[in-house]
Amino acid sequence: MIPARLAFIALETTGANPLRDRITRIDVLEAEGDRVATWSTLVNPQRSIPEFIQQVNGIRNETVVDAPPFAQVAAELADRLHGRLLIARHARFNYGFVKSEFQRLGKSFRADVLCTVRLSRKLFPAHQKHKLDSLMIRHDLATGDRCRALTDVHRLWQFWRLLQRDCGEEALAEAVRQQLERPSLPPHLDPALLDDLPESPGVYLFYGDNDALLYVGKSVNLRQRVRAHFASDLRDYKEMRLSQQVHRMHWHETVGELGALLLESRLVKECQPIHNRRLRRSSDLCTWQWVQVVPGECRLTLVSGQAADFVRSEGLFGLFANRREATETLREMAAAHQLCPIILGLERPARPGRPCFAHQVGQCRGACVGKEALGVHSARMLSALTKLKLAAWPYPGAIGIVERDELREVEEVHVVNGWRHLGSARSETGIQQILLGQSGQGRFDRDTYRLLAAHLGKGRVRVRLLSER
Ligand SMILES: [Zn+2]
Repeated sequence: MIPARLAFIALETTGANPLRDRITRIDVLEAEGDRVATWSTLVNPQRSIPEFIQQVNGIRNETVVDAPPFAQVAAELADRLHGRLLIARHARFNYGFVKSEFQRLGKSFRADVLCTVRLSRKLFPAHQKHKLDSLMIRHDLATGDRCRALTDVHRLWQFWRLLQRDCGEEALAEAVRQQLERPSLPPHLDPALLDDLPESPGVYLFYGDNDALLYVGKSVNLRQRVRAHFASDLRDYKEMRLSQQVHRMHWHETVGELGALLLESRLVKECQPIHNRRLRRSSDLCTWQWVQVVPGECRLTLVSGQAADFVRSEGLFGLFANRREATETLREMAAAHQLCPIILGLERPARPGRPCFAHQVGQCRGACVGKEALGVHSARMLSALTKLKLAAWPYPGAIGIVERDELREVEEVHVVNGWRHLGSARSETGIQQILLGQSGQGRFDRDTYRLLAAHLGKGRVRVRLLSER
């Protein structure tokens, strides 16, 4: 069934970005059966219209200087659109602008929206062009002067009538149904939430029964990612089971991907969601440290998360979830480089002075029985360990990693000290607050270390030094 009450809508704007640009003209055609009513208003965008846009749509700064701002027409627009199926060319674009304008007023606006471009693609799959003009010409709706004299909403309306006549109600209703179909939502979740999801980077949290935190995820496009969780053609059984358990959902927008990654990593550690696999606590972390046991003799020692100073120590190799993982890695390295397991502390000699088992089968060069000088063995071992070497924190104190989104004109500063993410802020006051409270914040953890080491290592991020210690 196609809803009986329709509203065809067409907008002119100062540009293409609903977050930054503003509406300059609104045309609405309300239709119910054969009865139609139109409404049109110019809108003062409260900013200058770029010259090339003025040329494209003919709405000049002078044209709108006396027009009401959106705040003054918002109530009437909401009233006219209320309870109607919205139909527009490039529905996402038009809907995005209307939503943004309402958002600036602190109001939320929601509607079911139908896109004529998608509809046309669906009903006339053989045709390549779906621009309104080519549709009009193809269907001989209006040509020449008559076409130009009509407003966009009238042309949309005529196109709609044509679809009803030529495709038949049934085919049209099916195409509409398919376009309006929502992902299959978990029974407890408010469907309206899916419409509110922004198309920006960020982190989302799923809560289940009793408000237990089920899952924390991140994406560069929250809307796309979260909707994918609930898509009806889920192939992953685990994911389907998770999505059906969701009662409540929450999200944090971030400026960019790094912000989303850092926040996700921190929330997973702090909140330990049931369905996240990475649940390692930083206190279990361990690393191999190259320490001097007696003057002139160094040895690899396993140090745990609490004892190790990951931030300042040199000579730390690898970050391991536990002792077993650390030992296993060292064992594999010994085998690959013909190093001696006895010298590495992985094996005890059967009797003092006896070679290791590896040497007996030709896999150790004999440091255990003096066939290879210890200094040479150590040098080979350190070279084999190079790629596991942890970087000491290369700054005197806290830094801010600046992440900026040029399109949205927003900026966020991730405050980091000693590989720990202390917080992110969008203002100088926010940064200062994070710095003031930094002593008790953020533990060293493997994911954050890797993330930061990778980003700082690339040298592509903007860094500000924030404190000397
Ligand atoms: Zn050996």
